[in-house]
Amino acid sequence: MARQDLENYIGQLLLVDTWRDYCPNGLQIEGRKNVQRIVTGVTASQALIDAAIDLNADALLVHHGFFWKGENACITRNKKTRIAKLLANDLNLLAYHLPLDAHPTLGNNAQLGKKLGLIGSGRFGDQQLGWLGELETPLTLAEFTLQIDAQLQRLPLVIGPAEQIIKRVAWCTGGAQSFFHEAAHLNIDCFITGEASEFVTHLARESGVSYIAAGHHATERYGIEALGQHLASQYGLEHIHLDLENPV
Ligand SMILES: [Zn+2]
Repeated sequence: MARQDLENYIGQLLLVDTWRDYCPNGLQIEGRKNVQRIVTGVTASQALIDAAIDLNADALLVHHGFFWKGENACITRNKKTRIAKLLANDLNLLAYHLPLDAHPTLGNNAQLGKKLGLIGSGRFGDQQLGWLGELETPLTLAEFTLQIDAQLQRLPLVIGPAEQIIKRVAWCTGGAQSFFHEAAHLNIDCFITGEASEFVTHLARESGVSYIAAGHHATERYGIEALGQHLASQYGLEHIHLDLENPV
């Protein structure tokens, strides 16, 4: 299919223009005009770009692309190497950040909830990015931790009493530790995001709301994969998802 048609379709699907974001969403690096094979992954790292080129991809779709607000805008050092490789191989780079976190079925939060057995019932936080929901069957924090470990193949960092009963949960994938300030007062038992900051320990202990940092990469690998699968079934594209190991 034409790359332009792919870009237009995803733009409408994810309502790209409606979000306030820290990076441009959509085509970030322009490559060939036609797309048949797509590769998806969390971050446009050198390793992911090299792997996509080895797979003869026409387009690489990621959650974390380039050109973040506040970063040095110059194309030097490892950013130069990454972009040079994309351009030399005529490989398109498309990136979808907050619009992908938020999509009601394909998004990172929707997909993580599904993975962890959470039934979504509401939203909270900046731009309503955070999700509220419930475990169908309440678990102790210790049991829920084991379930997360089994589902994400990564042992989370957990702050809270092992025997606490977890039913009402708030979550937001990636680096959403600042959302804990609001979430801790939403009558929930537990908050899940990808990363932790020092303050969350104290807020968890003082509010009685447990905190789970389940991995920035681990919580955000499912949205871009779901988007790739959706595009493959919609347009008959070949789709390969690459989950390059990242302990953070
Ligand atoms: Zn992220």
